[in-house]
Amino acid sequence: MPYNHKHNIKYKKYDKWIAKEIWTLIPRVTEVCGVITCMFPAWQNDVNRTARGEEPLNIQGANYASLRGTLTHYPIQEFIDGILEVETEPLELSANDNKLLANLKKMDVLDDLYDEVASGVDTFIKWWEMYNPIPLVSEQEIVMISQDENGRVDPTKSLKGTMDFIAEIHIDELSKTAYQELKYYSKKEDFEILNDKFTTIIDWKSGKDAWKSHQLQLTAYDMLVNDGWWEEAERTGLITQPPLMRSLYGFEARYGMCVKTGGKRPLTTIYDVGEHKDFFLAWDLFNNPEATTYSQTQKKSTGLKRICMFCEYRNNGCPLFSWSKQGEIQLT
Ligand code: SF4
Repeated sequence: MPYNHKHNIKYKKYDKWIAKEIWTLIPRVTEVCGVITCMFPAWQNDVNRTARGEEPLNIQGANYASLRGTLTHYPIQEFIDGILEVETEPLELSANDNKLLANLKKMDVLDDLYDEVASGVDTFIKWWEMYNPIPLVSEQEIVMISQDENGRVDPTKSLKGTMDFIAEIHIDELSKTAYQELKYYSKKEDFEILNDKFTTIIDWKSGKDAWKSHQLQLTAYDMLVNDGWWEEAERTGLITQPPLMRSLYGFEARYGMCVKTGGKRPLTTIYDVGEHKDFFLAWDLFNNPEATTYSQTQKKSTGLKRICMFCEYRNNGCPLFSWSKQGEIQLT
């Protein structure tokens, strides 16, 4: 059963009071959500390795999809920061990202990656023109710290994540296509928009597919912001419009947006994010994984091969793969 996450938790924006070793041990929302795609990365995650008394791997999640995401996010962030008139911090790629870039160069596919990034940024601009959002916050990192009775940070009950974007959406500023998109989802997801403007959390995805983990991720962000951060943002006047839309069954609900920039035209999916139960199930699974490559929720036939292609755990103990004598990865 998921534990009571409210117990003894306080929220704090990351600052130096947390030791770096503890900070790096706190799992990211994306790592937790990944458990429903493949469980092995959770087994190898440093928080679980440490609990088993093994050395942390400190892998920092370098794979093709995350690298493409990082490279696409950066110009998007610069664009939004330009409007918000804040300085964008320089892009720092991890050692593993740089290693991956070098490998892609060796494989002669680096230009393909940069083409995908450029196309993603073009698609983002199209989305921007369709939705005309009022930007409020970009790249907001939030950490939820849980401490035991002795005041020690418990990484298994703590969580960190970076919300890509929080914006106000004004209905009368939407293009016809965006309006129709919103209408389509309101019908599909049984909600109605309460106000002519609302605030929403938006997550950029550099691919074009919709995954169950996208909804979980937004749900986790909703959980993170709704125990302190949002209230503070309202108190300081940063957020003035409510996040609420109403479910057609009468109750108020919160919805988040996932914008996929992997195609020629942007795809926006709207998710109900106010119900956190599924995320807690994933978090529980993440904290109690098995050394297996399949999650409990996954059929063996679903997309593992594609995910595996650039997975950093393929050469970090994944039981599906091993190194051949020639130093290549092969299927065991
Ligand atoms: S390589 Fe594939 S099977 Fe192995 S851990 Fe990564 S995603 Fe799972």
